[in-house]
Amino acid sequence: MNTEVTQQSEQTETESTLRTELSVAKNLFFGEIVEENLFPYPQMRERDREMLVMMTDAIDRFLADKSEELAEMDRVGEQPEEFVQALRDMGLFGLIIGETHGGLDLSNAAYARVLAQTSSHDSSVSLTIGAHSSIGMKGVLLFGTDEQKARYLPSLASGETIAAFCLTESGAGSDAAAVRCKASLQEDGSYLLNGEKIWITNGGIAGLFTVFARTDGPDGKLTAFIVEAGWEGVTHGPHEDKMGIRASSTTTVAFNDVRVPAENVLGKVGKGFKVAMAILNNGRTGLGGGAVGGMKALIKLATAQAKDRKQFDRPIAEFGLVREKIAQMTVDCFATESAVWMVAHYIDSGCTDYSVEAAISKVFASDAIQRAAHEALQIAAGNGFMKEFPYEKITRDTRILSIFEGTNEILRLYIALSGMKDVGATLTGLKSAVGDIFNSPIKGFGVLSAYAERRFRDTTGIGTDRIEHNMDPRLRKVADVFERYTVQLSKASDLLLRKHGKDITEQQYQQKRIADVTIDLFVGLCVLSRAEHMIRSEDKEAESAIQIAELFSKQARRRMVRNLRGIRHNEDAIMDQLAGRILERGKYVWDVI
Ligand SMILES: Cc1cc2nc3c(=O)[nH]c(=O)nc-3n(C[C@H](O)[C@H](O)[C@H](O)COP(=O)(O)OP(=O)(O)OC[C@H]3O[C@@H](n4cnc5c(N)ncnc54)[C@H](O)[C@@H]3O)c2cc1C
Repeated sequence: MNTEVTQQSEQTETESTLRTELSVAKNLFFGEIVEENLFPYPQMRERDREMLVMMTDAIDRFLADKSEELAEMDRVGEQPEEFVQALRDMGLFGLIIGETHGGLDLSNAAYARVLAQTSSHDSSVSLTIGAHSSIGMKGVLLFGTDEQKARYLPSLASGETIAAFCLTESGAGSDAAAVRCKASLQEDGSYLLNGEKIWITNGGIAGLFTVFARTDGPDGKLTAFIVEAGWEGVTHGPHEDKMGIRASSTTTVAFNDVRVPAENVLGKVGKGFKVAMAILNNGRTGLGGGAVGGMKALIKLATAQAKDRKQFDRPIAEFGLVREKIAQMTVDCFATESAVWMVAHYIDSGCTDYSVEAAISKVFASDAIQRAAHEALQIAAGNGFMKEFPYEKITRDTRILSIFEGTNEILRLYIALSGMKDVGATLTGLKSAVGDIFNSPIKGFGVLSAYAERRFRDTTGIGTDRIEHNMDPRLRKVADVFERYTVQLSKASDLLLRKHGKDITEQQYQQKRIADVTIDLFVGLCVLSRAEHMIRSEDKEAESAIQIAELFSKQARRRMVRNLRGIRHNEDAIMDQLAGRILERGKYVWDVI
């Protein structure tokens, strides 16, 4: 592990007995709850807490009276240079860079909290900072050599150099491996870079790009490069005219015979796909933190509106259908917050297998904030629809969250297939164990007995993984739900793999159901852990946290029942046929005249 990350891990070390090699989410597929990685709920380290008090206060003072200016930036689609300079002056570009390189050395948990604060004012501000730290320069932090770090991190920390992440191309969106941008090895060891990237956040203001290009060689694999904006042949297009996050810079970035020295290869040649995925996984809590900040702002707006607005001689806050929306926004926000900070803790603690949990937190956070934006606008109704009020901008701004950094569809497939892959491996192991049993009985019986134990537990419920952590009795029923449905997930994965084998990769309707159950389980366990910690630490809001945990578990149980039942009883084939028919005709074919 590189020094920058080690530094962070040491500082966030808590007394927990975290098993850094284990993934909580992947173990759910085996019917197991890795308690050590869930309890007790992680706490912000003291140094971060102190820094955060100062930073959040400074952010509020700087942005609170700028709503007019921010609205104007949204209208024109640009942040003026003086505004970006003010963000630099506040240290917002050096949040996660170590002090040795001039940064603030915040943990990922604290970084996500800063983005929550900026997002409570304006999403474009968060995106400018977030695209720089979460993805733009994260590759230098994670994979940079000491020399690359010494060369680039100081100016990245001050914000003198802003960073951008260049993966997407016109033919390579979700299918990142389809990148065509080419880096040809020259005789002097340098590379000649050619190609065009699209929709690059910070593209118009960045001084440094992390670029993914196909290198020469028999299989032309992806390699990551650090490319400076000032080099000959590097250009960018005009700012895109976007639906939301309009003030953040989004442009094409073109590379025309750009000479990249060998020392600017990031990570190993041919390992660019791994670098890209590691950056995206590591950066996901930034987006999640931003979503939490946005949701808190929406709850504040919605409650004020509900109390102020009178209809039928009563504040609309008295009506059940308005109260229901406010309660749901609160449950969603608490759940998102619980999951995002759990994942940030995994990253800060040096966990090695957290990509599924990171994907879960991103999908849940982006879905939740879009629901919240929709409901807050609905509470404001006519006012909500008017540009004069903030709701329509927030609705536009949040729409991107389920599109970039991996679409929610792709991430759902990733969640399901990553979990099922390991289950599949044990089934394959089982098959070969059966074949092997006469040659190597001890090995064969070892696999069989573990499998038999799981099947016995899944069928009878005896031996179900119980959370042993000294659970407060008021949360026992909540814990029961997640224990029970963890076993159901294991059973369902087993069933699907037996039925479809390798063809499971083509069963997207089923993968979505499995992903949604996994999301409910992991997020629910994070909520449970947080509520448990609040009770234990005699938090004055503990009673509300118990209510939220109860609500989440009941809602999650209903969703899980529906999804699990849908695995056996569904209309997938009819849906698919109908889609096929409409796709063939290219339009909706009915009319009433
Ligand atoms: C404002 C903005 C900022 C961005 N910033 C950056 C950036 O800084 N750097 C960068 O590299 N990129 C950036 N992107 C690109 C972004 O990451 C891509 O838009 C995203 O990965 C999706 O790619 P696509 O738009 O080409 O959609 P497509 O891949 O064409 O997908 C279209 C639809 O099909 C679905 N789909 C695709 N494949 C499958 C499948 N196998 N199974 C099921 N469904 C599937 C998708 O989920 C989606 O709903 C940005 C995009 C936007 C809009």
